[in-house]
This record gives sequence, structure tokens and C-alpha cells, in this order.
Amino acid sequence: MSRITSGPDEQRPRAYVGRFAPSPTGPLHFGSLIAALASYVDARAAGGSWLLRIEDVDRERSRLEHEAAIRRQLAAFALEHDGDVVRQSERIDHYRSALERLRDQGSVYPCVCSRRLLETAPRNQEGEVIYPGSCRVRAVDTFGGRHSIRFKLAHSPPQDEVIEDRIEGVITQNVAKDVGDFVLLRADGDVAYQLAVVVDDELQGVTDVVRGADLLLNTPRQRILQRALGFRDLRYAHVPIVTNDQGEKLSKQTRAIALPTDHNSVLAALRRAWAFLNQPALEQVSSARDFLDQATLLWAVSRIKKHPAHIDKEPFESLEAAQNL
Ligand SMILES: [Zn+2]
Repeated sequence: MSRITSGPDEQRPRAYVGRFAPSPTGPLHFGSLIAALASYVDARAAGGSWLLRIEDVDRERSRLEHEAAIRRQLAAFALEHDGDVVRQSERIDHYRSALERLRDQGSVYPCVCSRRLLETAPRNQEGEVIYPGSCRVRAVDTFGGRHSIRFKLAHSPPQDEVIEDRIEGVITQNVAKDVGDFVLLRADGDVAYQLAVVVDDELQGVTDVVRGADLLLNTPRQRILQRALGFRDLRYAHVPIVTNDQGEKLSKQTRAIALPTDHNSVLAALRRAWAFLNQPALEQVSSARDFLDQATLLWAVSRIKKHPAHIDKEPFESLEAAQNL
């Protein structure tokens, strides 16, 4: 019996494939552990596989030593992935062919707007520039050169994109109004996150995305791209994010502490992460492996409290305290 509650396409026969997709811009921190743990246990509880994808399309910020640190941390937490590790930097050809397909459909155009020009455009609630569509009339001939490539959203009528999230419930966003035509290829030649993720999830056969709620409002854009490329629908669960004392999301930018890898800290961090996900406490735990096996049997997505109702500062402080022991 599957523990997964109703999703948008429950009838689908595909076997569960989940993934964890960190960016190698720093070691994993407590916030990353929440997402990794939730996606791992959700996959295992469904009898599915769990893939590891290194999201290193941002060439400037990605480092091999960070990837090595992330893999050491995952090993210490017994978060063992299936199959080979996939690196986005090695998959540029796939992203290029998706772009070519979109170009052939007339769904993309080059944008020559400077950053300075776009700074004057209105912003959405997330602080992102709402692209005004200034370059929509331009046609793409080749990719490359000093311009970005944007996806041309359907404007008449502007449509609400509806996502059914297993934790957040129904999410509605009018992408044309809230974001505008979004970037697929950056002016510096790097593939944008939205495109790489959508192409990889499809090619890797991913069925289920479990990730931090900070990525929730990327989902409507990704859904639009999936449809434009004829890709399969995915099921989503966005877990609450952890904030620090200042109410900021834990991240490398807010100098989140790297997850420790010694036995006691690993178990303490797992317990904290598990409690943060509002799952019942585990009593006798001998190792990280043991923890994950027991957790898999108890896991229920339905217990997770929605973002942002469950922003808990305590795990961060406790983990910090645990590290100072
Ligand atoms: Zn433009």
C-alpha cells in the first residue's frame, strides 16, 4: 500500500522516482537536511528510488570541493542515492535541444534589455522583476551572443496556472502577470534554473518533487515549460523552510552552519529535522541508517504543517548548540 495521499494524477502507473538536487555553492546546512530527509523518506516509503543531481549550471558559484563536501555529508547521514550522480554542467546539450524545440515552436525570443533597464520595472512579492515584455517582437535566429532567451507566455487571455501541492494544497499563480516572460538562457550563456530542472526531471524519469517551499513559486513556471515541451506532469510536495533568528531563510548567503558529520551531531540533526517535519519521535536509534529505516515506516506527508505557519527557529539554534558540545 502506498502512503502517498491523493495527487493530481493518482492513476498513473509510473514507479516513484524522487530526487535531491543541491547546488554545489557550499556545504549542506540544516535547511538542506530538511529537504533531503523529506524527499528521501518520501521516496523510500513509496518503495521508490531516490536520485542525486548536482545543480551546477551556475558556473561562477559552483565548486567541486563543495560537491565533495555535500557527498560526504549525505554519506554521514546515510542518505544513499540510487544510480549515477547527474551533473547539470555535463548536460548542456539536452538543455540546448529543448531550447531549439521551443524556438521551432515560436515560444522563445531574445531579450536585449540591460540589467539597468530592468531595474526600473515593477517587482512581484518575491522581489523579482516582472518582465514587461519589451523584446517580445524579436525573433531568435541563433543562441548565444550577448542576449538572454526568454519564454513567450500566452497572453490572451493571461491564464492562471494551478498546482496541486501535497502539503500546500492548491496554488494558483498568473505567471504572465506575476513574473512575465522568464529567462531560459542567461546573457552569460548559462542555462537558467527553470529550464535545466524541467529537462532533467523529465529525462531522469522523476515522478515526485519534494523540496523547500522557497521554490514553491517556481513551480507554475516549470509546469508551463513542461507542457510546452510535451513533458509528463510531476507531483509536488513543498516542505516548510527553516529561518534563522533574523527570520531569513537558512542559506549560504545567511552563513548557515554546515551540517556536522560526527555520529552524535548527525543523530541530533536528524531528530531535529524529523521534529521540524512534525513526524512522531523515534525512540531507540543506533545509527543514521537505523533512523532512516524507522522514519520510513512512520512517515506521513499529511502531518507536515504548511508554510509559512511552521517557521521554527529552534532547530537552527539547537543544532548550533549541539555542534558546540
Ligand atoms: Zn528585453
